[in-house]
Amino acid sequence: MSDVLKVEDGQVVSMTYTLQVEGQVVDSSDGNEPLEFLQGVGNIIPGLERELYGMAIGESKQVIVVAVDAYGEFDEDAIVEVPKAEFPADIPVEIGTELQVHGQDGETMYGHISQVGEETVQLDFNHPLAGKELQFSVTIAALRPASDEELLHGHVHGEEHDH
Ligand code: ZN
Repeated sequence: MSDVLKVEDGQVVSMTYTLQVEGQVVDSSDGNEPLEFLQGVGNIIPGLERELYGMAIGESKQVIVVAVDAYGEFDEDAIVEVPKAEFPADIPVEIGTELQVHGQDGETMYGHISQVGEETVQLDFNHPLAGKELQFSVTIAALRPASDEELLHGHVHGEEHDH
């Protein structure tokens, strides 16, 4: 019986990471504290979580996550055309403008302007990384067993999150 900690369900994982998409770094823990999460409950995207099982402190790994295991496939139905005339005057009508829309159920949808036409504006509510393959480079910085309360809540309690 080994007492060396490995990534498994119920462990709090501290991990440094770099995320590249199409060869460009789009996110990284560089300059920040390592990312902390509870393994096994979907705190992170499933395609990455699955690949971490069994890793030890100090171990590094390259993980490729296909779109369906990350932010999903690009959804054509998430593209919406809105008449320019209906567009609120306080929002700049230009490509890349980010906006929030409240749906019928009160949920918030995040999108951006993807095209501006003569009379219509095209909104894209896909996640910016939808349809993309993610290339992670991760290193396990620390591991500890989660507390009973953390297991109950399904997330890590740290300095920024205590209750
Ligand atoms: Zn909590």
